Formats: sequence, structure tokens, C-alpha cells
Amino acid sequence: MANDNQKTLENPLTRFPQPPYEKQQQPFPGLASKMNPIPDHGETSYVGSGKLKGRKALITGGDSGIGRAAAIAYAREGADVVINYLPHEEEDAQEVIRHIAESGQKGYAIPGDITDENFCIELVESAVKKLGGLDILVNNAAKQKSHESIADISSEDFDLTMKTNIYAPYWITKAALEHLQPGSAIIATSSVQAYDPSANLFDYAQTKAANVAYVKSLSKQLGPKGIRVNGVSPGPIWTPLQVCGGQPADAIPEFGKTAPLERAGQPVELAAVFVLLADTTSSYSHGQIVGVAGGYGHP
Ligand code: NAD
Ligand code: MG
Repeated sequence: MANDNQKTLENPLTRFPQPPYEKQQQPFPGLASKMNPIPDHGETSYVGSGKLKGRKALITGGDSGIGRAAAIAYAREGADVVINYLPHEEEDAQEVIRHIAESGQKGYAIPGDITDENFCIELVESAVKKLGGLDILVNNAAKQKSHESIADISSEDFDLTMKTNIYAPYWITKAALEHLQPGSAIIATSSVQAYDPSANLFDYAQTKAANVAYVKSLSKQLGPKGIRVNGVSPGPIWTPLQVCGGQPADAIPEFGKTAPLERAGQPVELAAVFVLLADTTSSYSHGQIVGVAGGYGHP
């Protein structure tokens, strides 16, 4: 007799849109709502089971892409969530807040630029106030701008990439530390670029390698305090980052095509890993980098 609860076997190659994708570009920081196809962040598909009931999460870059997928999954698992993003992304952010509310959780939007140290401190303080504490910190926001040659990277561009991807997680983590109790989790978003950098991502790739070192060092510091630190290493994922300067426009149609799974990943395909690393059932997972890269990468 057929089992009604049986799940359909899904082919990972064809589960989501495959290349060629439409050639598209947006000005930085881009909006998920203006991409074609619109990325899948789990809005209609992620089903929670109370894994993070009562938890309080701050997610940078939670308006779109991988951060949005984490925000929706955390809310569906029972956590209240603060998202940070740039003011230009208000429309994307409000959509996330609506999904969090529809999941029966509290969602708070705190726009602001994390390349400013004072704002990073304020962000943590307001998040703690709104949530009534903090026990999950996801350092996920990043700047990625493709340059064919090192000669084309201005000191200003280089500085902005370093400030967003390395300084901000340092400032935010430092401010958050006094609020994190044993059992709390910190998660960083690194990249396959940390291990196998592309020629056109000279500055960005260095910051993603720094994110790995952040996890490896901080986990040694914070393990004895009962705070777990882990990272996620995505491969090519269909997000605004890639269509607002992260890749050359000509590379977008074939984005993800050379991965063994022959397509770009969708943000929702990272949701389970972000939940896993925040969830106390993974209490011995610490100092790890988990790959979600369609067959690329070697963390
Ligand atoms: P995304 O554009 O959806 O998210 C990045 C977010 O960073 C933006 O939404 C924006 O809110 C935030 N941000 C950038 N500069 C900021 C600033 N100065 N102040 C405040 N917020 C700022 O793209 P995404 O791909 O989901 O990126 C999330 C993470 O995933 C990044 O760390 C990125 O390095 C990593 N990653 C992405 C890919 C990919 O292919 N998309 C691959 C590997 C790693
Ligand atoms: Mg965004």
C-alpha cells in the first residue's frame, strides 16, 4: 500500500531554475524582488518544527539572499529575528518582516551601514533591546565587486570590501559578546572563494578566507565559554550580490553552470544548514565550515 507521507524523490539538478539565466544587472545593493527569476528564500516551502523556539537572532544582510533564507527559517523554527540591511533595501526587508510575522514570530528591521563602527555597536544594542537578549548572531552581510585586474581596484573599493566583510563582523561580534550566554551560536558566511579564489575576486576572496580564520580562531576563544562558532561556505547562489557587480554581466546567464550540479543554488538550499548550526542539538559542532556549493569547494 502506498504511504501518503512518502516524499517525492527530487532531482537536485532540476529542482530549481537552470542556466541559461536572463542577463541582468542592478545598481548596488540590488533587490531580490527585481531579479529574474526571483530567488527562492523558502517563502512558500520552508516548514519549521520548533527547533529554535524562544531563540533571539540578529542576521546582517537579512533582507535578501542567504540572510533572508536564514531569517525565514529561524522564524518558522520559533525564533524572533532582527535583520540589518542598507536603507536602499527597505522594500526587500519589509517583505522579510512580513514573512516573520506570518510565521507567528516577532521580526524587527534595523537599517544602517555596517562599515561604520558606531552603527555596528548601536545595531547590537538595539537588537538586544528589541529581542530582550541575543543568542544567535549571523554575520552574513558582504560586499563583492568583480574586477578583471588588481590594477582596476581602487583603494576606496578595497577598503569598502574589507570594512564590510572583515571589520563589521569584528565590530558586531565584539559588541554582542557581553550579551551571549552559554548555548549561544555565532555563524559566519564565508565562501568557496576562501579556498579556490576566482581571478576577478581578488579582494573579496581574501575577505572570505579571513571569515574562515574568524571561525577557526574565535571558536578556540569562545568554546570554553560555551559559545559555538561555525561558518557556512556557499558556492554560486542566485542572489542580488551577483547581479549588482559581484559578477561581470556576461557571466550571469551561465552562473553556476560549471558546478557538478550544473546550476546556481537557491538561498533556500542553505536554510537547513543555518538552522543546524544554531540548533543546540548540534552542540558538538564547533569551529566548522559547512559547504553548500553544488559540488564545488573544499572546506
Ligand atoms: P545579498 O546581496 O542578498 O546579501 C548581502 C547583503 O549584505 C545585502 O542584502 C545587504 O543588506 C548587505 N550589505 C552589504 N553592504 C552592507 C553595508 N555596508 N551595511 C549593511 N549591510 C550591507 O547576497 P548573498 O549572496 O545572500 O550574500 C550573503 C553572504 O553570502 C555574503 O557573505 C556573501 O559573501 C556570501 N556568499 C554568497 C555567494 C553567492 O553566490 N551568492 C557565494 C558565497 C558566499
Ligand atoms: Mg539585499
